[in-house]
Amino acid sequence: MKTLDFHVHYTGNAGQVDRFVADWRERGVEKAVLFAFNYADGSFPTVDEIDKVAKRYPDFFIPFGYLNLGIHDCMAETRKAIERGFKGLKFIFPAKPYDEDEYFPIYEMAAKAGMVCLFHTGIVIGTSGGDYQNEYQRKWRVSSNYMRPACLDRIARVFPEMTIVGAHLGGRAWYEEATQVMYWNANVYFDLCIGQLHYVRRGIPEGQEQRAIKPRMQQLYDEGQLNLSKVVFGSDAMMGKEGISPNWAMKTVQFELDAIGATEAEKAAVRWNTAAKILGIGESERG
Ligand SMILES: [Zn+2]
Repeated sequence: MKTLDFHVHYTGNAGQVDRFVADWRERGVEKAVLFAFNYADGSFPTVDEIDKVAKRYPDFFIPFGYLNLGIHDCMAETRKAIERGFKGLKFIFPAKPYDEDEYFPIYEMAAKAGMVCLFHTGIVIGTSGGDYQNEYQRKWRVSSNYMRPACLDRIARVFPEMTIVGAHLGGRAWYEEATQVMYWNANVYFDLCIGQLHYVRRGIPEGQEQRAIKPRMQQLYDEGQLNLSKVVFGSDAMMGKEGISPNWAMKTVQFELDAIGATEAEKAAVRWNTAAKILGIGESERG
């Protein structure tokens, strides 16, 4: 079954691109959505840099623009991404909640151009995380609360023509909220990165399965509130960092879909079909 990775960051290391593409292809990933990530000072790879990487593998990468709302000139950045023919935009670290009125001109421009809008949702890495980026998080007064899945609800209602994808299914704190926003808005989808359907049980003897589906997640699926045909696979890979491999993400999505009892159609939807539909990838390319 072929796979599309909806969530890959570029960290500015052009020398790692060839190895990354070869690794991913070897594991069955045929396409990947690519966007930037902030450096420690808050800057990030430019539209030009993303474009250059994507053009090296035009059959593999699907480039997105990258926006920290309220921090830099997001109208200009959006315009540039549209002019380059990018398919969408990734939003993270907004200065105010995603659904503040002042961001609506950006959404309007994106919606008119048919850009797919991917929003980080959930708790973002903090001081207890290995890669916490204190410099800009402090300066920008970053708040995970501004990135709650519920913030997508208003945007989805105002721009029903916009395809919205929330990342991380709301994270561990707000997945229930994410499934509800998705349930009530036809234009809202979520990505699964990374392994949001399961948890790891402590103290299980080696050789036995340590992973299990979160009981509430199973319940949401069983009652039809978690619609897997609106969920897409993503690895959250940081391309350019040493030691990045798709193995874990691929094994995890397989475990999760089997364990939750997904149908064959739902498995195909999560791995490829839904992302292909959202991104306008032709029928002939579907598997
Ligand atoms: Zn990410």
